[in-house]
Amino acid sequence: MDQPLILTCTSGEFPEQDCACPDGGFEPLTPHTMDTFAAWQIAPRLYRAPLPERHQLVFNPAGFSNVVVLNTPAQNILDAFALPQRLDSVLPSAPVSSPEHANAVRSLMALGLIRPTDAPASIIRSRVKTLTAWLHVTNACNLRCTYCYIHKTNHAMTEEIGRAAVDAVFRSAVRHRFQAVKLKYAGGEATLNFDLVRTLHAHARARKTESGLELREVVLSNGVTLTRAMIEFLRDENIRLMISLDGVGAAHDKQRVFASGRGSFSSVAHAIDRAITNGLSPHLSITVTAHNADTLTDAVHFAIDRDLPFNLNFYRENQCATPHTELAAAQARLVAGMQAAFAVIETRLPKRRLIDGLMDRSSFAEPHEYACGAGHNYMVIDERGGVARCQMEIERPLTSVMAEDPLAHLRNHRRGFQNVPVTEKEGCKNCEWRFWCAGGCALLTWRATGRTDVQSPYCNVYHALYPQVVRLEGLRLLKYAAMNA
Ligand code: SF4
Ligand code: SF4
Repeated sequence: MDQPLILTCTSGEFPEQDCACPDGGFEPLTPHTMDTFAAWQIAPRLYRAPLPERHQLVFNPAGFSNVVVLNTPAQNILDAFALPQRLDSVLPSAPVSSPEHANAVRSLMALGLIRPTDAPASIIRSRVKTLTAWLHVTNACNLRCTYCYIHKTNHAMTEEIGRAAVDAVFRSAVRHRFQAVKLKYAGGEATLNFDLVRTLHAHARARKTESGLELREVVLSNGVTLTRAMIEFLRDENIRLMISLDGVGAAHDKQRVFASGRGSFSSVAHAIDRAITNGLSPHLSITVTAHNADTLTDAVHFAIDRDLPFNLNFYRENQCATPHTELAAAQARLVAGMQAAFAVIETRLPKRRLIDGLMDRSSFAEPHEYACGAGHNYMVIDERGGVARCQMEIERPLTSVMAEDPLAHLRNHRRGFQNVPVTEKEGCKNCEWRFWCAGGCALLTWRATGRTDVQSPYCNVYHALYPQVVRLEGLRLLKYAAMNA
């Protein structure tokens, strides 16, 4: 008889994106002690779906196990806990048990797929660890993307403002007891003021040393003016690079154009390949709109060909004003385009875990209660030193880098959208995906509905696609387990 097989992979890392990444929000429960006399049972509301060759995908919507794959003997062990059961009936001392069987029980316990019947239902809330800041090093850009929300000017951040911005971020981070700072050098187009990026990097390194905080940095770029010297600097200084790519050839060129109207694909593709050649693996940010949804497969092939991480973000600005019928049609196209992209991924499952950035603002890296850090652990600093809660509100700063604690101003702001926890969103409270979706972008929901305590306008899309996202991870686990067997 086959031995029980349990496959799992947790990510632990949120993908790079042009938003305020969520940053945890929960910490695992202390593993339950192996009380052989306690009654244990399957965790409530596990999501289970069939995979090839009678394997099964198991996903705990309110736990830390992430995607788990079980073969039939392992499923049988899990199902043995459908009713409360004492461990002494399954552990080695029990006459019917084997060491492999007992190990499988221990794994299911460690993953939280079985738990004591009296265990608390919720996962524990914890302190967020990282303060993330968007540094708008210039408001100038060499592209005129069709969906861009920035009203571009030629204003660049000065060195004085930049240093004050970095100081303000570290000041708030220390005051609010964060463990790490993450700086996103952005714009406009950050490479148009790259000397400032170099200067602020050195300044941030000095502040990191003084404060004892960890420092992570990323440059968000359209890629078209990325030189080899910049790439080598980022590589050598351990700064990540995110490049926006909306498709291959005409699909990209339709959305991301120079001021002259010429498409930017060939420049961007060269920049990506130049980065790879010089030892830097850029993260691709793909914005999905009604115009490129049906060509997503090409973009996915492009990323997988180069073994690059990527995320698929839904365009979020003008949907808000769209009538319901148009929105439904646009969402149907979106679902079809995403499903086609998933089909490509299924045929070319990469070794790297993909699902953490596959679905808009949803993250499968770890459970979280806020879709992003806006209003909590995120500061957007414009080129003049104004500080806003979200880059899409960059033209409405609420305070400045000269304030003693700019983050406190953002946290205390009670007008406009409020980034509430998913457990307070009507319609989300009982959703099985709530700690992975977290209710979607609060600003988009606010603009579409005038409320932020309700589910995202993309809720139907999320519900249609989440099962396929976790399935992809199950298939990936199976494929590489088979190759390593
Ligand atoms: S927006 Fe929809 S999918 Fe997301 S948590 Fe709310 S109900 Fe669930
Ligand atoms: S509020 Fe929305 S757009 Fe703003 S940072 Fe959060 S997810 Fe991104």
